[in-house]
Amino acid sequence: MAFELEKLLRPHIRKIKPYSSARDEYSGKIGVFLDANENPYGSLTGEPFNRYPDPYQTEIKEKLAPIKRVRPSQVFLGNGSDEAIDLLMRAFCVPGRDNIILLPPTYGMYEVSAGINDISTKSVELTPDFQLQPSKILEAVDANTKIIFICSPNNPSGNKMDRNHIRQILKGFEGLVVVDEAYIDFSDEPSFTVELDKFPNLLVMQTFSKAWGLANLRIGMAFASEEIINILNLIKPPYNVSGLTQQKVLESLEKADEINKLVHQIFEEKVFLENKLASFAFVKHIYPSNANFLLVKMDGARKIYEFLIKEMIILRDRSKVQLCADCLRISLGTREENTALIKALNQYHSTSN
Ligand SMILES: *Cc1c(COP(=O)(O)O)cnc(C)c1O
Repeated sequence: MAFELEKLLRPHIRKIKPYSSARDEYSGKIGVFLDANENPYGSLTGEPFNRYPDPYQTEIKEKLAPIKRVRPSQVFLGNGSDEAIDLLMRAFCVPGRDNIILLPPTYGMYEVSAGINDISTKSVELTPDFQLQPSKILEAVDANTKIIFICSPNNPSGNKMDRNHIRQILKGFEGLVVVDEAYIDFSDEPSFTVELDKFPNLLVMQTFSKAWGLANLRIGMAFASEEIINILNLIKPPYNVSGLTQQKVLESLEKADEINKLVHQIFEEKVFLENKLASFAFVKHIYPSNANFLLVKMDGARKIYEFLIKEMIILRDRSKVQLCADCLRISLGTREENTALIKALNQYHSTSN
C-alpha cells in the first residue's frame, strides 16, 4: 500500500516554519556570543550551563547512528520517548477527528497522550498469550486512523511480538506504525530498525531509560525515514534535550560495549527470581520475559501487593488490566532487592496460612 507522508500530515503542519534560534545562523563554537540573552559569567554551579545546548544533539546522533546501524538523519532524540509519542500525535492526528489503534494490554502513555491531544483510540486486544492479531488490527483501521502503536517487547507482558505479524501490519496499513522497543536491549531479537529502508511508514522508538540506566535524565530515541524525522524536529521545542543530559549520554556512548555486561547481570537476576518465585504455591504463572521485568500471575495478587507495600517493597499492580487478571509486574532489581522481595513473600506465605 502506498504511504504518502504529505497526506498523513496534519495540513497546518506543512506550513510551519521552524523556530529559528540566533545560533542557527552561525554554527561555529568559537565567537563572541551576544545573541541569546544568556548569562556570560557562567552559573552558580561552576559548570558551563549558561549556554543553550545543541538543539539537534548532533554529536550524540553521530555516535549513536553507527551503533544503531542507521544514518544520523534517521535519528530523533526527545525528552524521553514520551515526548516522541506526543509529537507524533500532534504531527499526524487532527484532534476531535482522527484516531489511533492501541493493542492492550500495553504501555499506558499512548492512551494518556491521545487523551491530552483529544485523539480517540481504538483497541484491539492481544491474544491470551499476548500476540498481535494482524487481521483484526487491519480491520479496525478506518479513514481517520493515523497511527498503530505496537510495543515489542511488550509492557506489561514482557514478550516480543511475532515479526511477521508486525510486517503484515506495516504492509497493510497506510498510516504510521510505531514499534516501541523500550526493552529491546534485553531481547534476543534484533531491532526493527533493520526494516526501516523497506517500510517508509515505520518508526522505531527506543530509550536510554531502561538498559542504559538513564531514566532520570529523560532521553528517548526515534528512528525513521529522514522525512518523518524532519517533521519531529520541526515541531519539537527547540532545546528539548538538556546539555547536561547530552553530556552524560555522550559519556555513556563512549562505553557502549559495556552495556551488555549490565544487561547480562539483569538477565541473571531474571533467572534467579524466576526460580525463587516458581516455588511459591500462590504463584500461578510466570510469563516468559524478553524485558527487565516479570509479569506474574498470583492467587491474591492485590493482597500480596498490599502486603508488600507495608514491607516497603513496591511492585506494579496490573491485576485490573485486560488479560492480566491477578498479575503483578516485577521489575528486576539487584540481587539484594530481589532477595528482599523473596523474603517478604516467604513472610506473606507463612502469615496467610
Ligand atoms: C519505560 C517505557 C518507555 C520509556 O519512556 P521514556 O520516556 O523514554 O522514559 C517507553 N515505552 C515503553 C513501553 C516503556 O515501558
